[in-house]
Amino acid sequence: MTDKDTALPETTDEGRIVLLKNIMSASVEGYATRLDDWKRATGIDHPECAHEICDRPATHGAMAIRAFSADRKRYIYPACETCVRRTEMLYVKGPLVVINDK
Ligand SMILES: [Zn+2]
Repeated sequence: MTDKDTALPETTDEGRIVLLKNIMSASVEGYATRLDDWKRATGIDHPECAHEICDRPATHGAMAIRAFSADRKRYIYPACETCVRRTEMLYVKGPLVVINDK
């Protein structure tokens, strides 16, 4: 294992609500791994869906970008199986995990 494998993913926007848009093509594959990354980074074991108006248990790690932003980074948030498929913009509760493409 290298340092890159063991380093905790970076988190952001704790305690904030941010406007995100799901990356639909990415959300189907690898969602379980992404949810694990989010749990590891935040220390939260049983998250609820982070969509502001949803309180179902999160089963997926959704991948999203910020809406109306020049920031092109991708982020992970915990989502239920319904919200991970939403195509509209969503208000999502932080913390988010930053996806670092190296
Ligand atoms: Zn949901």
